[in-house]
Amino acid sequence: MAKKILSKSKKTRYIFVIGGVMSSVGKGVTTSSIGRILISKGYKVAIVKCEMYINIDAGTIRPTEHGEVFVGVDGIEADQDLGNYERFTGNLSKSENYITQGQIYLEVIRRERNLEYGGEDVEVIPDIPNEIIRRLRIVERKQNPDFIIVEIGGTVGEYQDLLFLEAARMLHLRNPELVQFVLVSYLPIPKTVGEMKTKPTQYAARTLNSAGIEPDFIVCRSEFPLDKKRKDKLSLLCNLEPQDIISAPDANSIYEVPLILEKDDFGNKILKKFGLNRELLDLKEWRKIVAKIKNSKKPLNIALVGKYFSTGDYTLSDSYISVVESIKHASWQNHRYPRLHWINSEDFERNPRSITRLAKMDGILVPGGFGKRGIEGIIMAIRYARENQIPYFGLCYGMQLAIIEFARNVCKIKDANSTEINRDTKYPVIDVMKEQKKNLEEKNFGATMRLGNYPAKIKKGTLAYASYASTGPVMERHRHRYEVNNGFRSELEKNGMVFSGIYTKKDLVEIAELNKKIHPWFLGTQFHPEFNSRPGDPQPLFDGFVKACIKRVSKS
Ligand code: GLN
Repeated sequence: MAKKILSKSKKTRYIFVIGGVMSSVGKGVTTSSIGRILISKGYKVAIVKCEMYINIDAGTIRPTEHGEVFVGVDGIEADQDLGNYERFTGNLSKSENYITQGQIYLEVIRRERNLEYGGEDVEVIPDIPNEIIRRLRIVERKQNPDFIIVEIGGTVGEYQDLLFLEAARMLHLRNPELVQFVLVSYLPIPKTVGEMKTKPTQYAARTLNSAGIEPDFIVCRSEFPLDKKRKDKLSLLCNLEPQDIISAPDANSIYEVPLILEKDDFGNKILKKFGLNRELLDLKEWRKIVAKIKNSKKPLNIALVGKYFSTGDYTLSDSYISVVESIKHASWQNHRYPRLHWINSEDFERNPRSITRLAKMDGILVPGGFGKRGIEGIIMAIRYARENQIPYFGLCYGMQLAIIEFARNVCKIKDANSTEINRDTKYPVIDVMKEQKKNLEEKNFGATMRLGNYPAKIKKGTLAYASYASTGPVMERHRHRYEVNNGFRSELEKNGMVFSGIYTKKDLVEIAELNKKIHPWFLGTQFHPEFNSRPGDPQPLFDGFVKACIKRVSKS
């Protein structure tokens, strides 16, 4: 994409995206969609997530609590929203794209201890917002974008949001022509009333006003499009032009959202307010992706076996959002519609005979995870996939457990295990790395795993090689403490396991698969391939897995 327009004027423009009324209404998708639209108009965009919590990163938060931990290429453990940013913009996430309140306070206090404030009082205002602004300037310097879109976590009115809003207000005060605000709000349609209500959005806009911020746009999320009457009403009461009220009704797929926002010509309206020229939009490729999604009607049944799947009565697909999106991308690309079956592995432990429900599946996937709970049930599922020739894809823990299963049931190393599960196992086929042992002993858990990008050398003639054939050097993201124990490699290989991807610098296993003569498609990765999948450009191994699932369907 041409990066033509703003290179003349070096100034970076800011778009702050702020939530109103309630969470989970698609603020992250709106942010990502604005990014896609501006990129499609030829601009360079960076997206930053500002997170309210005091955690330094998302690495120490339970996935059932806050969704998936998304890993940036440099190893930052971040909020799942960064995954959407990547999937919509193609930009790779780095540490500077993720700011938490904890990082901000830590840095201010570090500087205070170093006497860097020259004996002055260090105060919440302005020192905390100033540090937030300094962090945004780092994104300007390092990524040199035309626009920085900043998503502020949480909802306006939350006490914890205030300092980020304050930073946004201060930035606007210094350069009003370079800063815009988008309020993403929700308009409920109460069943008993049957009418779309604007009042909560009015309150949200007022609350934003009380933080010294006037929204330039309100993106109205609702079940249906907004009618003229409501646009006029919000315009009058929230103090903006009717055309700046953007309608964002529910979409079948999140990937339709850029097209929906463009129905209201959102991109050009943003450009106009910045004093920039209208630009023709090239969402041609994007439209093709959406058309593919709509045309994918044949189902593919894929079982996801693991834990972290439920909270109360609800399935928490958010804990594995990148895995789910990767399966979708690969399925759509192959004209299939994925039907996901979330299976709690503890069900198999309680009722071993229920394992046969896997027979109906076209493929089985075990995603990443930690700890002991539900492990034996997962191993039962992997065994079933192996013995019944069902395509199997294991991600990180899913690969480690596949190796344990193979060692126990094929190589007859009966008590084979990971030291994560049994510290005293005699046969640690998966073991903690030396440098990690120290971290565990010292309870030094934050940001100490093997994290971020590492290269893998792929062995010719393997499933992995067939999948990666048309890509360049293989570079994938990691987040784990344990590794395949090289002491057992030759025994595993003798029995038909192939180590098809290696991080050669340290001789670590990156990909393990079964010889094609034994099984049609059985492969696990030590890394997390799900972070590198895009709509219209699926991650190669997911594509390989889905193709194998399709082959199984056509055979059965
Ligand atoms: N618990 C395993 C490890 O730390 C796997 C981690 C994961 O699946 N991300 O090595």
